[in-house]
Amino acid sequence: MTLKNCVKKLICGVVLVVMATCVAGLFSGSIVLADQNDRNKEWREKLEKAAEDDFSEFIVQQEKELDNTSNQIEQELKILKSSYIGATGVMIRPAPGPITSPYSKTKVHPVFGAVRPHNGTDIGAPHGHEICAVDNGIVIYADWRDNYGWTTILDHGNGLTTLYAHQSKLVVNIGDEVVKGDVIGYVGSTGYSTGPHLHFEVRRDGELRDPYHYIPY
Ligand SMILES: [Zn+2]
Repeated sequence: MTLKNCVKKLICGVVLVVMATCVAGLFSGSIVLADQNDRNKEWREKLEKAAEDDFSEFIVQQEKELDNTSNQIEQELKILKSSYIGATGVMIRPAPGPITSPYSKTKVHPVFGAVRPHNGTDIGAPHGHEICAVDNGIVIYADWRDNYGWTTILDHGNGLTTLYAHQSKLVVNIGDEVVKGDVIGYVGSTGYSTGPHLHFEVRRDGELRDPYHYIPY
């Protein structure tokens, strides 16, 4: 084999490997997206079916399940061993838009009038709007969560975590390091949600904090 032929073969080989990698990347991207859509469809069907049967019973059940999920998250974050030290300590807003429902320990339920807490701050950003990391951190959760829908949790170190729920699409993975302002997902209405908005939570050692004290309102 001449040197020229050898170089030609080598270049062809490299091109093929690069092309294969690109195609694999494309497919894995579409598989993730298909899975996100399927999970959401499944959940919507479950909600619609339950709502047809007995709406008030259904709401009570959902609220209970939401509390259970929130408590689970608290327990998981309590045992988190974080060594992250890259946060700036000054948070930005995760999305623009009005605060449609603030964090509250004594919120009056719109349907039943009963007092029940709201674990986060709701920001009325439109469907598909970018959601940004409020500070530098590490992605410690990026997956479906019942009631919360597509959810991301960032660890900012020092026991501080932020949570972004009801997303239409996640674009980060567990272990990714994010910089303040990076896009981590898109606004949606997945999980137990009445319309597109971002439900944003701040937790310290797993326990809920009022985002009002952390992000600009
Ligand atoms: Zn909310």
